[in-house]
Amino acid sequence: MTNENKRTFLMGSYRIDIIVHGFPGKSVCHGPLGFSTIALIRHNNFTALVDVGGFGQRLILNQRLNELGVSPDEVTDVLLTHSHFDHAINWVNFPNANIYISRDEMQWALEQPTGKTYVPELYIAALQDHQKLVLIENNEEILSGIKSLICPGHTPGSTVYVLDTGDCDIVFTGDACKNRAELVSRAADMTYDAHLTKKSIADIWGKWSRRNGGILIPGHDLPMVLNNDSIEYIGKHEATIKAWFDGALNQTTLISLSPRN
Ligand SMILES: [Zn+2]
Repeated sequence: MTNENKRTFLMGSYRIDIIVHGFPGKSVCHGPLGFSTIALIRHNNFTALVDVGGFGQRLILNQRLNELGVSPDEVTDVLLTHSHFDHAINWVNFPNANIYISRDEMQWALEQPTGKTYVPELYIAALQDHQKLVLIENNEEILSGIKSLICPGHTPGSTVYVLDTGDCDIVFTGDACKNRAELVSRAADMTYDAHLTKKSIADIWGKWSRRNGGILIPGHDLPMVLNNDSIEYIGKHEATIKAWFDGALNQTTLISLSPRN
């Protein structure tokens, strides 16, 4: 099902590559890390990204696409899970792509006061005027095999994308369910409405557990598969910070952010 480094999934007529694995943590002193998931889905008639990350992921996004033989011009579709800065900045890198975001999310994002939220106001304003913007509703077939599931809680128009590969479902949750802890506890850090989040996570469980072998790809964690009702990570957490504490460029301290390394 997957290759050795656990980035590639060949499922039915789809190939999914995790461009960047999301990380299930946030900084204590500096706000969100913004280490979010970016995934590429390739099929006969489309090349789509689910989320595109923030500024910090620009170069790694370009580099990984290049390694996979995909030029930015060839990306036909960008599916945004929500409007936050760590998911929705780099749509500007893909000039030929349709950019999908839910109507509810777009309306809410445009109403946010400048400088008060994690919505990148200028990028959302530019998206509003973009010729290839597509506003979507709940339970819409976005692309062949991919449907939307609106899951409010993290933001009002957070959208989950469910890919039916024929044999099983791949569920891209964005931040409607950021990580395994939220999936298991059915509650979330950073939600504007805990009740809505609980219902949304129940909806996500419904899609994920519908058939054996389903894969869940969250906004800030590794992919997971259900195996006899137990949740198994696919791959390992890899996140490390390199810091200059010693006053010399060639002396660095590596700080692992993974307890499992
Ligand atoms: Zn996020």
